[in-house]
Formats: sequence, C-alpha cells, structure tokens
Amino acid sequence: MPETDMKNIEILQGVVEPLLNWYDSNARDLPWRREPSPYRIWISEIMLQQTRVEAGKGYFLRWMEELPHVEALANVTDDRLMKLWEGLGYYNRARNLKKAAGIVMEKYGGALPDSYEALLSLPGIGPYTAGAIGSIAFGLPVAAVDGNVLRVAARLTADKEDIGAPATKKKLEQLLLKVIPADRPGDFNQALMELGAVVCIPNGAPKCGECPVSDLCKARILDIQATLPVKAPKKARSVEKRTIVILRSGGRVLLHRRNEKGLLAGLWELPGFSGELDREQLSLLIEQEGFRVGSIETLPAAKHIFSHIEWHMAGFAVDLESESDLGVTLDLESGFDPESGLDRDGEGFSHSPDERIETSKPLLTGSRWALESIGTVEEEPEVYSRDRKEQKPRWVWADRQDLETKYALPSAFRSYMDFLREAGL
Ligand code: SF4
Repeated sequence: MPETDMKNIEILQGVVEPLLNWYDSNARDLPWRREPSPYRIWISEIMLQQTRVEAGKGYFLRWMEELPHVEALANVTDDRLMKLWEGLGYYNRARNLKKAAGIVMEKYGGALPDSYEALLSLPGIGPYTAGAIGSIAFGLPVAAVDGNVLRVAARLTADKEDIGAPATKKKLEQLLLKVIPADRPGDFNQALMELGAVVCIPNGAPKCGECPVSDLCKARILDIQATLPVKAPKKARSVEKRTIVILRSGGRVLLHRRNEKGLLAGLWELPGFSGELDREQLSLLIEQEGFRVGSIETLPAAKHIFSHIEWHMAGFAVDLESESDLGVTLDLESGFDPESGLDRDGEGFSHSPDERIETSKPLLTGSRWALESIGTVEEEPEVYSRDRKEQKPRWVWADRQDLETKYALPSAFRSYMDFLREAGL
C-alpha cells in the first residue's frame, strides 16, 4: 500500500472516535432517524439526493402517512406517486422506488433485503443508497459516500484530485472502508454526512472553528481547506427557449402529459412550444385551430434549470371564448406531438415560430379534443389519445381541485402554476 494511503488511513482512523462523540451530542433530530427502519431510510435517502433536509422533512412525512410500507408503495397509482413526489425533481427516482417496491414484494416478501449486493440490484439503488441502507438499517460495514462525505474525506486527507472523477471517489471510499467501526457503521456514515452538512460545508467556507476533528484535518493544518475539494468545471448547460400556454376555459385549465421518454417523461405539464412566440403569433396559431381567443395575457418570463439544460420561458394565459368552435373532427391518428411539432411521419412545423404559423398541419389536435370534451364528458374530462393502448389520458382539463390533489406538475412550471393559484385558476 502506498505510504500516502497509509498516512491517510491513520488520519481517518483518528477521526472515528471524536467524530462519533460529536455526532452523539449533535445529530439533528430528523423524522427518518426516529424510527430508522430499512424502508424509511430508503425513502429518505432517495428523497434527499436532490433536496435539502429542511424541505425533505415535509415530503417524507406526507409520504409516510400515505405510503407507510413497501406494499403501499408497490400498489400506489402512478399519478398519485407523481403527486407525492411533485416538486422534488428527478421523477424517475420515484418511479424506480415503485418498481423496486414491486420486486421487494415479489422476491423478499415485502422486507428490504439485508445484503449490500441484493440492495444494489434493486432499481434506483446505487452504491451510496445501498451503503446508507446497509449500514444504517442493517449494521453492515459498508461505506455510503455522497457529496458531503466526499468533501469531508477530501479535506481531511488534503486530496487535490477532482472529486467528480470516479477514480477519486473510489479511492476515498476505499480509505473510509478501512476505518469504518464494526460496531457503529451506520452512525459513522451518518456522522460524516452530518459533519459535511453542517460544519464542513461547501463553497470554500468550512466552519473549522466548530469542527470536532480540526486537529487531525490535513487540509486545515496546511491551511488549504478553502481550496478543497477540487472539482472540474461543469459543462455549460444548453438553453432552450419555450413558450408556455395556460389555456383556460370554463373554470378549467388544459394539461398535457409529456412523452414517456426524455426530459420530465410522462409528467403533466402546461402545454408548450419550442421557441419563443409573441402574443400575436400565439393568437394566430390558436385561431388557426378554429378556437376563439377571448383574451391573452402576457405573463412574466420564467427560467428553470435542469442538470444539463435551461428552459427560458415566455408565458401566456389564454382564455377561450365560450362559443369557440368545438365542432372539429378529432384526428386521433395524426400522431401529432406538440413537443416537437412533428407528426408520426416527421412532418409538421419546424422549430422556427415564423414557419410554424404557415403550416397547415393541426397544432393542437389533442387540445381540441380535450376542449370538445368539456361540453360532453362532464364526469370524465380526460382524453385518451396517443396513449389509448395504455389507457393513459394524454390531455386533461383540470379544475382547481384537480391541480391541488390529482395532477403533479414539475417545478419547471412553478411560476405559472403560482399565477394560476393566485388568479383562482
Ligand atoms: Fe472540514 Fe475544517 Fe473540519 Fe477540516 S477542519 S474537516 S476542513 S470543517
């Protein structure tokens, strides 16, 4: 073993006891720590992968009230699942939770397996989560290395390698594995996470004066803690301009279910177009569809940042006149996709708003169908179009209560949903 590794193991070995002592008297009182069952640890770890602890608490408590065990999760409807996850982002994580719950029911009788490898084989569970569940819930001597732990370990050992590189992560994980105390692996992992969350915080501002292991920390001794960890600069995100339309009629707003693949797959959204339309262009598009626009209000621009892309959005609230011409034949077979503007044959308007206006292709086929249903299908204002086979509605007219309780919209639409809420729909 290289001498540096030996020295680093010595440092980390020395950290174990003071860190555990500090954790014993400083651990935050968090809902999932009160009854650390494997299921609760699992859900909390997945939720906290993209959410701050404070925000995560409410989500966790709501989830546990409705889905208190694996069986309830395995049987929840997709829409309800999305509603419980609404605003947390990375919606595939929620889908994977349900998928994994189904496997746990089938293969393990509803109890999460107590081996690291078996946990790792479940959908959505990677090395970090398997390590967290394994060590906290089952007392397995395995590491759980998330961003907080990586930062703390890199500073303690004054590691100057890029912590985004898998090799660095692997190296630090291996070092930690050597020192995990057999009697308290879960507490040790949580103590490292806790230290990273509240003391050894990111962005060059660790609170070394409050740190229980500052005497041992190599970065602090060398006075380079503010420069660590080293992270390679991220690739710049691409920017996509979009036009979001709040289309209202009869106290309802039109929602569209996104395609099953790609960004925000399968989630409900406010209908939108690629590119930035102005109100005249939008009005023309809607009128070309045979609708009667009552009024159009320009809403403030909004921005949403995903991990690899930014949406810069223009928004409009469009109120249709009640006497809009609804008597248009539904063309279910057109396969029109409002995302791309293309039909199944790849034809349709291009991504330039100007060209779009000239197209004779139907633009809002699905929504027109939905609009028709307002007058005719009072009880079930849902529209089965392209997903007819799966019996999943593609378009719905949602009223205020539906928006609050039934349909989950990702936080990308938050500012427009806020507008709707403030306007009383
Ligand atoms: Fe982090 Fe400072 Fe503690 Fe080192 S001494 S682990 S840099 S808080």
